[in-house]
Amino acid sequence: MVMSHAVIQKRPHEATVAPNLMDLDRLRSEWSWDAVRAELDLPDGLVNQAHECIDRHAAATPDKVAMIWEGSDGAIERYTFEEMRRQTNRFANVLKRIGIQKADRVFVFADRIPELYFAVFGTLKAGAISAPLFSAFGPEPVAERVRRAEGAMIVTTPHLLPKIDEIRGELPSVRHVMVIGHRAGATVDAANLDYAALMAEASDDFVTEPTGAEDWSIMHFTSGTTGLPKGAAHVHEAVVNHYATGKYALDLHPDDVYWCTADPGWVTGTSYGMFAPWSNGVTQVIYEGGFGAGRWFDIIERHRVTVWYTAPTAIRMLMKAGSGVPRERDLSSLRFTASVGEPLNPEGVVWGEEATGLPFHDNWWQTETGAIMIANYASMDIKPGSMGRPFPGITAGILDDEFNEVTEPMREGQLAIKTPWPSMFRTYWSDEERYRSRFKGEWYITGDRAKRDEDGYFWFVGRDDDVINTSGHLVGPFEVESALIEHPAVAEAGVIGKPDPIAMEIVKAFVSLKDGFEPSDQLRRELIGHTRQRLGPGVAPREIDFIPSLPKTRSGKIMRRLLKARELGLPEGDTSTLED
Ligand code: ATP
Ligand code: MG
Repeated sequence: MVMSHAVIQKRPHEATVAPNLMDLDRLRSEWSWDAVRAELDLPDGLVNQAHECIDRHAAATPDKVAMIWEGSDGAIERYTFEEMRRQTNRFANVLKRIGIQKADRVFVFADRIPELYFAVFGTLKAGAISAPLFSAFGPEPVAERVRRAEGAMIVTTPHLLPKIDEIRGELPSVRHVMVIGHRAGATVDAANLDYAALMAEASDDFVTEPTGAEDWSIMHFTSGTTGLPKGAAHVHEAVVNHYATGKYALDLHPDDVYWCTADPGWVTGTSYGMFAPWSNGVTQVIYEGGFGAGRWFDIIERHRVTVWYTAPTAIRMLMKAGSGVPRERDLSSLRFTASVGEPLNPEGVVWGEEATGLPFHDNWWQTETGAIMIANYASMDIKPGSMGRPFPGITAGILDDEFNEVTEPMREGQLAIKTPWPSMFRTYWSDEERYRSRFKGEWYITGDRAKRDEDGYFWFVGRDDDVINTSGHLVGPFEVESALIEHPAVAEAGVIGKPDPIAMEIVKAFVSLKDGFEPSDQLRRELIGHTRQRLGPGVAPREIDFIPSLPKTRSGKIMRRLLKARELGLPEGDTSTLED
């Protein structure tokens, strides 16, 4: 474990904006999910995520801006909660008109345009299940997911439509394809439904379907980092977690301008790019385009972003672009920054402080958990490299291989979460058996390995599948990668176990370099020397390959299984989520 960085101390009582969570232990001891429910609306005991995120605020603060949308071309549009209410009501009316029923799966396959957001919340109001997909998927990954979920409808845009046309014949469950043409100035073919025409005819009024806590709401396929993506299905009750974690883990306050960089094609882009900010009634920025260091910092400056939630892969790219880029902007609006998706290397946390004046707060969760489970909080000291401490109301444990809890500090084991919690997934769609296999007694088994220290902080070790067994030591790839990243030449590192007749496995690293550095034997020896000194010879990589970039999922996660398959000349398995 890399613990070379000093603890970053917090003084919450001196903060200009007092954190919502001042004392984790105290909030934990007083925690009640019912008290959280009491802060939501929940009319007649019903729960609908769209109602809690949109209509509740449209009633209280109709003119408050819910969404500041920035297009790739620089266009800026603003939508108030009232406008969101009307647009989502219209979309729900359209769904009813074309015969979409409760629990039908409505896929959205679009870039981050405002209509994507109207469609998701309109679907929820109509009681159907929303299933957003990455717009960068090719036809086959789309077909595979729609088939497995027996999707009833696909909402898309003219430039993505050719991909749907290619697979439509293979998808008998799909009754409608709807095209959002107006934004691109395109006319919609009579074979498809025309979003703009139907929306124009629809009423602004709609009575939200009376969904209960356990009614289905959204389905997300996992990132496919470890294998074939699984369709994790969630229920409306999840909004209780979204609201609470938005308030206490991301520290959202009513006046915040919040920006989550994740795409709604994966769970962070909905749980934290829709439900958490809007259930808290917060204004959020949505940027249509992809990564660009200059543009990203411009967005923070232009919209006076106060809370920013991003991912380690983006942070590593920002680091690669250098601290000059943020220094040229006015980032004084920022108050809290956080990261999720992969382990955040300590270097990344510290770089945040250097570049923006704020450390990134790492937090841990997954598609299946639906919301943040372990976090670093605004008021809590950060130990760079640690994912933080369990959220109030959540019990995380370290289990041994027989699924018994280990309580001694720093023992490595399986990371598990005690069931239930509101945003827990309720099944893997059409794979109930796999779903059940993830639970042992009262625990949900996450598939990740971790340790807990004497202060209750959790430290990520690696995916169950990625942990390396070398000469009797268990080595987590993350600590080796983090040590490599400390070296000024290294931009990214991915570490695998390579089978070895004597050691069982040896540690092998794949490294991509920052601009201005060239691969060489000398650099290789230097990196091995550096990691040996940091971690000891048993853990340091024996082999290092230089590669231009690491294979990653579309949500930005290093795909170690692919590095391994390529190294061993084995089949690559599912690569549908592989980035180009
Ligand atoms: P698949 O399940 O298809 O292999 P995936 O697990 O990458 O894909 P997600 O649900 O998107 O799909 O990602 C959740 C996983 O990401 C976690 O189980 C964990 O391995 C990793 N992760 C997320 N946040 C963190 C974090 N802060 N620190 C370490 N790992 C993290
Ligand atoms: Mg997973």
